[in-house]
Amino acid sequence: MSKVLLVTGASRGIGAATARLAAQRGYDVAVNYISSRDKAEAVADDIRKAGRKAVTIQADCAKPDEIKRLFAEVDKSFGRIDAFFNNAGIVAPVMPFVDIPAERVVKLVMTNTIGAFVAAQEAAKRMSTKRGGKGGVIVNMSSIVAVLGGAGGTTDYGLSKGGIDTMTRGIAKELAPEGIRVNAVRPGMIDTEIHADMGLPDRVAQLAPTIPMQRGGTPEEVAEAVLWLMSDQASYVTGICMDIAGGRGI
Ligand code: NAD
Repeated sequence: MSKVLLVTGASRGIGAATARLAAQRGYDVAVNYISSRDKAEAVADDIRKAGRKAVTIQADCAKPDEIKRLFAEVDKSFGRIDAFFNNAGIVAPVMPFVDIPAERVVKLVMTNTIGAFVAAQEAAKRMSTKRGGKGGVIVNMSSIVAVLGGAGGTTDYGLSKGGIDTMTRGIAKELAPEGIRVNAVRPGMIDTEIHADMGLPDRVAQLAPTIPMQRGGTPEEVAEAVLWLMSDQASYVTGICMDIAGGRGI
């Protein structure tokens, strides 16, 4: 029986790349999206072309009730979940620390941290061997910004991702005896549309000379790391935050 993976924020970027690669590695995939139904359906079509099952599920991963419905729909479609990529996230325009309004911090933390926390809870409830599950793997989406501090106008985004590192280490210890491995990926500058959402579409090219490897990364390079962390090859790996950043942040 093939394994079932849920990816949040899977209609584009790193989430879409991971969903597509997962199908090639034999996973059936639940593709979550918030508003881009057509793009999510295109990802699902590619998964089916790779010979695997796919469903698309709309849900806002900043809202606990919708997250709970998302997991209930995965239950209905597949009857199990083996792997969870806690990927959905947002950024905000670069702004000096002292000018960032509290409402903006709340929105970032609600989506990137609290939403991810609730989603990890829902995954753990289903995977836990103490609750009748078969074990499983969770990969959380952090950022190298959690290490760098988000300096340069993204301190609130940095704060939201720092919480992911803390949560990852904490729940990895708590859930290890229940058959669940929990790790995070900490990408650096990855070439996706998220930078345009910050008002900086050329950010990766502009910052490339400051990265030790002198280039940005691709969504596929992050997807490879996520799929490795989920694989049996990583069977003794839990509680780590893996930098995928071309040397940025070391
Ligand atoms: P992206 O904007 O293409 O992907 C983010 C995805 O999350 C989108 O599909 C978006 O619709 C979805 N999303 C946002 N809010 C959501 C919500 N409330 N509910 C459901 N889905 C929601 O950008 P990406 O670069 O692929 O980002 C994916 C993750 O990687 C994010 O968490 C981001 O913070 C993180 N990250 C990105 C980089 C980078 O340089 N691109 C670096 C480090 C970390």
